[in-house]
Amino acid sequence: FNTERFGQHILKNPQISEESVHANVKPTDTVLEVGPGTGNLTVRILEKAKSVVAIEMDPRMAAELTKRVQGTGAQKRLHIMIGDFVKADLPFFDICISNTPYQISSPLIFRLLSHRPLFRVAILMFQKEFAMRLVARPGSPLWSRLSANVQLYAKVDHVRAVSRNNFRPPPQVDSSVVRLVPLDPPPPVKFEEFDGLTRIVFSRRNKTVHANFAAKGVLAMLESNWRTWCSEKDITITDEEDFKKKVESILEESGYGAKRAASLDVDDFLKLLSAFHDCGIHFA
Ligand code: SAM
Repeated sequence: FNTERFGQHILKNPQISEESVHANVKPTDTVLEVGPGTGNLTVRILEKAKSVVAIEMDPRMAAELTKRVQGTGAQKRLHIMIGDFVKADLPFFDICISNTPYQISSPLIFRLLSHRPLFRVAILMFQKEFAMRLVARPGSPLWSRLSANVQLYAKVDHVRAVSRNNFRPPPQVDSSVVRLVPLDPPPPVKFEEFDGLTRIVFSRRNKTVHANFAAKGVLAMLESNWRTWCSEKDITITDEEDFKKKVESILEESGYGAKRAASLDVDDFLKLLSAFHDCGIHFA
């Protein structure tokens, strides 16, 4: 197997798959699985779900999985898509269960969360360190841009730790199973805007928000966005307007300028974002 290229570490402990399936899959569910590999998890999902759509990039793995279900009652309920999940058109699914290659952890989450209609729940295995950042809470040492961007759209819980010995071949890292439940309805904010703000504020997470806005390039970028916005809205910018002062007064009046990124929660970021938007300043 091309272990390195595709991140192929097969989960050998049936109890872990069984737990994920048992606690989450309903008989009416269409389940999305990303990277089914040889299908250890897939066959368990098929025992309970109405149908499974599995996206697998490695044609040899897909062939092996096809063979595995051939002639069984599950054959008709499994649809295998061969290709890269990151580029594939996602089908409808009620829930997503996956032990995926860790190279695509971030795109996997954000693609799932931007998919419509929203899924009910996702049970995903990640590298332990990545999982810990996903579930980190504001004010804790691992609270980061990733935590805030994901928790903007979903409730995230740590389900269980999975040591590397549960896989063959064993990877270099330990893993964790995480549960994601999308917030429904999702917050009415453009992801690019929220992400643009957290990118600035978390650039040095233990500095003040004010200091991060004063970093090189930030004001110039925001000013250029602002000028574009004004011209689109036919708003004339007068000579007296000082962009730097404008930003500083937003930071001061909102009360966030003196705070540190590490202490702000998703709600704080939303409030700060809307204070900027009220003044025509955008982040993307
Ligand atoms: N789910 C199986 C299990 O638990 O035993 C296999 C897990 S293995 C860590 C990851 C699987 O994802 C491999 O079969 C690999 O070929 C596949 N894969 C890697 N990158 C992919 C991508 N971008 N899109 C779809 N599948 C991918």
